Amino acid sequence: MIARRLLALAATPVLAALLAGASQGGGATPGAPTAGDPYFPQSGDGGYHVVQYRIGLGYTPASRHLDATAVLTSRATQNLSSFDLDLSGLTVSSVRIDGRAVAFSRSGVKLKVTPAHALPKGRTFTTTITYAGVPKDVTDPDGSADGWIVQKDGSVFVASEPQGAMTWFPSNSHPLDKSTYQVSVTVPDGWTAVSNGRLQNRRSSHGRTTFDWRETSPMAAYLATASIGKFQVQSYRTASGLPVYNAVDPAEAKAAAPVLARIPAVIAWESKLFGPYPFDAAGAIVEHAHGVGYALETQTRPIYDRAPDLDTLVHETAHQWFGDSVSLDRWKDIWLNEGFATYAEWLWDAQHGGPSTAQRLATDYALPAGNDLWAFPAGDPGEAANIFGTPPYERGAMVLEKLRERVGDRAFFTILRSWAGDRRYGHGDTAQFIALSEKISGRKLDSLFATWLYGQGKPATL
Ligand SMILES: [Zn+2]
Repeated sequence: MIARRLLALAATPVLAALLAGASQGGGATPGAPTAGDPYFPQSGDGGYHVVQYRIGLGYTPASRHLDATAVLTSRATQNLSSFDLDLSGLTVSSVRIDGRAVAFSRSGVKLKVTPAHALPKGRTFTTTITYAGVPKDVTDPDGSADGWIVQKDGSVFVASEPQGAMTWFPSNSHPLDKSTYQVSVTVPDGWTAVSNGRLQNRRSSHGRTTFDWRETSPMAAYLATASIGKFQVQSYRTASGLPVYNAVDPAEAKAAAPVLARIPAVIAWESKLFGPYPFDAAGAIVEHAHGVGYALETQTRPIYDRAPDLDTLVHETAHQWFGDSVSLDRWKDIWLNEGFATYAEWLWDAQHGGPSTAQRLATDYALPAGNDLWAFPAGDPGEAANIFGTPPYERGAMVLEKLRERVGDRAFFTILRSWAGDRRYGHGDTAQFIALSEKISGRKLDSLFATWLYGQGKPATL
């Protein structure tokens, strides 16, 4: 009805001019309900960038109930008539933009928010979402659980790669969108909540304790955590002044202690190879959650489902450079995370009494053509279910060893340091890595990558 009246009034010149202006404002369109990644088409959202998340969680282990408020400071990247956030399950009671209640609706894992007035491109605005319920983890295409994963005793293992962030906070959940975080978690006294970055404050009242965490470097949503347990906590500074905060389930403490004691040495060793450690905090979360079946490089503070071995610690620490500081543009390029972290293990082993990296390459190459290793190319997993399969890890490491053989140690380690340094806190894709490798080495490398990164099956010769 409003539209019909406006059309009638448009007959007068002044109103026509006004309407032309209005229709420019009316040129605002909905943000895309996807980041456009074919592997996870429902993840991420277009039309805005989240600058900062402020997430307040109140959790009761006995009931598994979560009461939460998320305040997102965002910037519109187009004239926005509405936009989506990713949120799975939970009940949203209100959404406000710049303090005023606005309309919202739910559909699948999308929370659609419609501001009262279009948000012009470039506008910074805050979205406050109040929500509650019992979070449920998601099952990934490869069958593993991800997100807010509750254990029998009510403790929570929070690891959200690739799509689990939506199980505990509303987000623009694709690594393309990186943001700073403030996470505050309130739990009953005796429980400890651990997130990324530095612990700013800890306060208790009426039987509950609040932990205020702050991550000041840009972070992809999947790397956020808010893990909760009855942890033994250890905090100290390394010789170079980096604060380390470890939270360990008592059932894993004895086995974890000698490995966690190596954190400063591993960071120092990797800093020599890859360049300065990118973040202002470090540490580990070690849970007693063997059913989870994996560890994750949650930013600044990796999470382990059990006491890690040293190779796993080396791997998750290497991700702080490769994956966390330098993020993927699309999940297809997962080898840029996993191949590099696996190669860090090869390097560590080679320098600590294990086989040389050349021997590792030869041992892998000797595996028969029917082995899982050759199932698909490291650089082209083909589908979401494959991203955590063997090739992006092990064949990804083989690619790096082949590159090192071709260009020599000096150029190779310059390539790794330049990749981490030039793209610090940003993004990179495979074509950019190949271009950097060619630029630094001065060699044409397309056939090397065609064979070892993109080749189907086992290469004919080593
Ligand atoms: Zn990894």
